[in-house]
Formats: sequence, structure tokens, C-alpha cells
Amino acid sequence: MHLYGTQAINDQGHLTIGGTDTVELAKEYGTPLFVYDIQLFRDRAKAFQKTFEDEAIGYQVAYASKAFSSIAIYQVAAEEKLSLDVVSGGELYTAVQAGFPKEKIHFHGNNKSEAELRMAFKEEIGCIVVDNFYEIELLKKLSEELEQPMNILLRVTPGVEAHTHDYITTGQEDSKFGFDLKNGQAEEAFLRTYDHPFLKLMGLHCHIGSQIFDTTGFQVAAEKLVEKMSGWEEKHGYRCTVLNLGGGFGIRYTDEDQPLEPAVYVRDMIRTVKKVSAAAGYKVPEIWIEPGRSLVGDAGTTLYTVGSMKEVPNLRKYAAVDGGMSDNIRPALYGAKYSSILANKATSEANEKYTIAGKLCESGDKLIEEAILPSMEAGDILSVFCTGAYGYSMASNYNRIGRPAVVFVENGEHQLVVRRESNEDLISHDMSYKQKVKGK
Ligand SMILES: *Cc1c(COP(=O)(O)O)cnc(C)c1O
Repeated sequence: MHLYGTQAINDQGHLTIGGTDTVELAKEYGTPLFVYDIQLFRDRAKAFQKTFEDEAIGYQVAYASKAFSSIAIYQVAAEEKLSLDVVSGGELYTAVQAGFPKEKIHFHGNNKSEAELRMAFKEEIGCIVVDNFYEIELLKKLSEELEQPMNILLRVTPGVEAHTHDYITTGQEDSKFGFDLKNGQAEEAFLRTYDHPFLKLMGLHCHIGSQIFDTTGFQVAAEKLVEKMSGWEEKHGYRCTVLNLGGGFGIRYTDEDQPLEPAVYVRDMIRTVKKVSAAAGYKVPEIWIEPGRSLVGDAGTTLYTVGSMKEVPNLRKYAAVDGGMSDNIRPALYGAKYSSILANKATSEANEKYTIAGKLCESGDKLIEEAILPSMEAGDILSVFCTGAYGYSMASNYNRIGRPAVVFVENGEHQLVVRRESNEDLISHDMSYKQKVKGK
């Protein structure tokens, strides 16, 4: 059994998080319930920031908030002096409502609408990460019309794709995101923006993958981007001051995952940038990173109540819980793996093999293919670990199941930060259909 952050087992054999008994949380707030260990979030944020401080380099650590977007987490991110990545008008609106410092908001996306870009100008956010030529033209038009400046980064595809255990260099990257570095698109984007009166080109951005356990991909990407920026300075006399290397730092979902310490990814990245910059005679740029999963992933745990069981003789035992793909689609979507324990019997011997099924009408709605747990009965509380990233944020109302509640725990305190969706919430956008009779 592997516990995360402030998790512990108390005298009653119950899982606690942030000093709070999870069985009590399940009783008070109902299940499924997302529980976030806020201390862990803060510690991660500080670990990333400290590495930059130790290396004495200009930086921004932006929380890539598509991993989990809510007013409360944005407020904690602000307390930790993080910057914030948003990818839609909805996320931007949430950040504004949370009172997040606007100058530290970065706007991403491969198809931002004109309305979304207007919102970014109106809120005077920190920067827009520009993805394509269509967006360049839209931004020029808007900034000229509003006579308003906007900082921009150009998102480029460096031809490096990082996967969990390795990376590949691809010649021409087939990606829907960004300007290709190799085929001249990035250069063209630079030429179309660097001397614009309102668009202030700060630098380059890339994001090479997610759930990465190795620093090589980041180093290769850093090298390519610094060389490009240095080349532009020589050729055009324009210096980019920011290098954003994205997110993707891996976390431990199961025993199979062996991530590096967050600081290690960042330290190797910084040292590469320093080395390559020195070699090119380029002033070391600020480095920005965008962790999502590694800030909220293992900080989140989902509590479920166990209900029906089914045994397929000689094959497997199914145990069904009161949620599933509506609150965590990752197993069904891409075979993601999770570990779990029984929160109310955490010290009982785990000697039974179960398949944890959800309650939604899809055979593929299974949360864990093979979980070794103590013998279960209806009413037990199952805690599934590492659900904090891309769980709630990808939740749906499939089967008209309301999305779960979210609770933050810290220092023995617990607080509801997202209310459970009620049946009334589920029909709140529905309207009755009245047949119109022709000719009347
Ligand atoms: C999703 C995303 C991230 C965060 O990725 P994680 O794997 O959650 O760290 C960062 N930057 C960009 C551009 C992204 O799209």
C-alpha cells in the first residue's frame, strides 16, 4: 500500500487525509466524493518554485488548470503565487471570479474564438499563447481595434514527443497544436508578430507530452528552442526573453510508475537552458513551466461506496461502486490505471481480487481492472488514489448522474468547495417543448 502526501491510517483503521477521517467525510458529504490534500498541492508548488530560486533564474510556475478547474483551487494557486493557464472562456471566467491576479493568467488553445480573445483583452490578462496563423490575424485585428497591447508567446512543435519512459524525435510533427519549428512555420509566425505595435512577443512555448518520467525530452526541446531564439536575435536583432517548456511531469498512479522528484525535472531543464544559452552567446531567458497533473493529480482521492457484487465463476469478482466513468473517464478513455484501498478497512489483509466496476451503462465502465483488496461488502468505502487531475474536470452527466462534490482538507479541517449536483441541477437547463400549430 502506497500513501500520498498527508495520508495516514488512524487507530480505527481508517484512511485519513489532511488529518481528517475519510469515512467521516463520506458520511458527511456522501459519495462519490473528491477529496483534495491541499498541503500536498502547496508543497509541490513550493518545490517547483524553490528549484528556480536555488538556480537563481527568472521564472513562472503556471498551474495548468484544465487538470482541475474550480474557484477554490484557483484561490489556493493564487496564495501559492502560482501563475495560471486557462484554455477557454469558461476557465478564464472562473479565474476572474476567483479573484486570480489577471496579469498572471496565460491563455492557451488551438481554436480560441474571437469572443474568448476579446475577453482576454478586456480582462488584461498576462499573455496569450498563440497557436496558429488564424489567431495571429485575429489578435492583430483586435489589438489594433482596441489600441491595446497584449503579450504573446508562440506555441511551437519542436519535433520532440515525450512519452512515459522515452521520447522520440519526429521530423515533421503531425500535431493540431502550434507552429512547426522545422518547416519554417515558426519563423513565419515570428516575422508576422515581432515588430507589431501592439503584440509584444515575449518568447516561445512548447508542451511535449504528459506523464513523463524522464528529463531528456525536455532537454532536447529546450536546446532546439534556445537555438531558434538565438538565431532570431542574430538575424533580426529581436530578443525573446521567455522560454516556456510546458508541463507533463509524471506522477505515481500505481507501482509501475516511478516518477522523478518535481525538482529534478526542473533542475535538469534549467541547467540545459543555461548550458545551451552560454554556448550560443544568448542571455539566459526566463523559464516558465506549466505543471497540471503533478500539482493536483496525487493530491486528489475519490471516495466511493461499494454496492452490488457479481461473481463470474472461475473468472472474476466484480464490485460495483456508486460512480464510474461519469466522474473518472480516464480508464475507459485510455486504459488509465489506478490503485485503491478500502478506506474503512485499511488495515485488513488485502487478499481478494476484484474488478472495480462503475454504475454507468457501458461495459467498458470499469475503474480498476484488477484490485487486490480485503473482502468487501456493500457499504464499504473504496478510496481510489491519484484522481485529482483530469477526473472532475472531465466529469459528465452521462446517465443523468450528478457530478460529485469536492472537499478540500488541510490541517484537520475540511471544507466543501464544489457542491454535489442535484437532480434539480440536472434538469436546470431543460425546457419543455410546446408544439406550435401552423396558421394560428
Ligand atoms: C495539458 C497541458 C499542460 C499540463 O499537462 P500535465 O500533464 O497535466 O502536467 C501544460 N501545458 C499545456 C500547453 C497543456 O496543454
